[in-house]
Order: sequence, then structure tokens, then C-alpha cells
Amino acid sequence: MSAMKDDHKHGHAPAPGSAHDGCAHAHGHIRLTPARQLVLDKLCAAGRPVGAYDMIDLVADETGKRPAPVSIYRALDFLLENGLVHRLASRNAFMACAHRHERSATVAFLICESCGKVREATSADVAGSLEGLAAETGFHPKSQVIELTGICRDCAGSAAA
Ligand SMILES: [Zn+2]
Ligand SMILES: [Zn+2]
Repeated sequence: MSAMKDDHKHGHAPAPGSAHDGCAHAHGHIRLTPARQLVLDKLCAAGRPVGAYDMIDLVADETGKRPAPVSIYRALDFLLENGLVHRLASRNAFMACAHRHERSATVAFLICESCGKVREATSADVAGSLEGLAAETGFHPKSQVIELTGICRDCAGSAAA
């Protein structure tokens, strides 16, 4: 486990202004409190799903003060509601939204069971199929999140090598 390398992540927030790649959110119109911004920054910097309790640790590391769990949950809820983060039900963890898409978009997460990396993807085809399915059954979906677990390209490559 600890053998895995993550050279581009040092647990520090990127320098201000240097867009953490893929995390340059379309949230210009949403005003974030410093606490919420910090949680979002930490999620962006992590680049992988982070559980609420891990987030408490990350925030404590940053501020030197241990936040109340409820404040972390509230911040995560707010970010979720505004489409800035996604929740991965299977891991009970949160992830910064990797790209711009409609809040109601169908999002698929490709979760690597080997290295833990998670890729976010949207597909109009998948969204269309699900919409059709929902319409057929008269179901009104609120969130449409698909989680695929498996082996990512990198890990599949290194296993084959
Ligand atoms: Zn997203
Ligand atoms: Zn992998």
C-alpha cells in the first residue's frame, strides 16, 4: 500500500492562482466561506475521495485547530448541493468535481481498486439511457451517479509488464 507513489501530491494546497488542474470550478458565482473554501481546496488537492473524518484531519493540519465534525459535514453538504463535490456512496467519501458539467448531469466514477485513483467522467449516451429508463418507470431521479470499480489503465499496464 505505502509503496505507491504520488509525486504530484504533497498534501499541500497549491499556490494561489495556480489552478489545481481540473479543479478550476465554475463556481465563480457561489460565494464560499473560508471554511468551505478550505474543504474544497483540500478535496481538490487530494485528487481522490476523502472521507469526512479524513477531512477533519486535513483541516486540522492546515489550521492547527480541530474542526467540529458537524462543521465539516455542513461544508461538505453545501459543496454537494452546489455541485462542487460529489459523494461516492460506495466509499462514503467525497471528491471534488473534476470538470464543468450540469449539476444534474449523470456522472460516472471509475474507481481503481488497486491504486485508489478515481476518474470522473460524463457521458451523454449514458445520461440518455438513464433518462429513458427513468421516464419508462415514471421515476424522477435527483442524483445520477454511477460507480464502476475495477483496475485503471496504469495499474492494468503495470500488471501486464
Ligand atoms: Zn463533476
Ligand atoms: Zn490504478
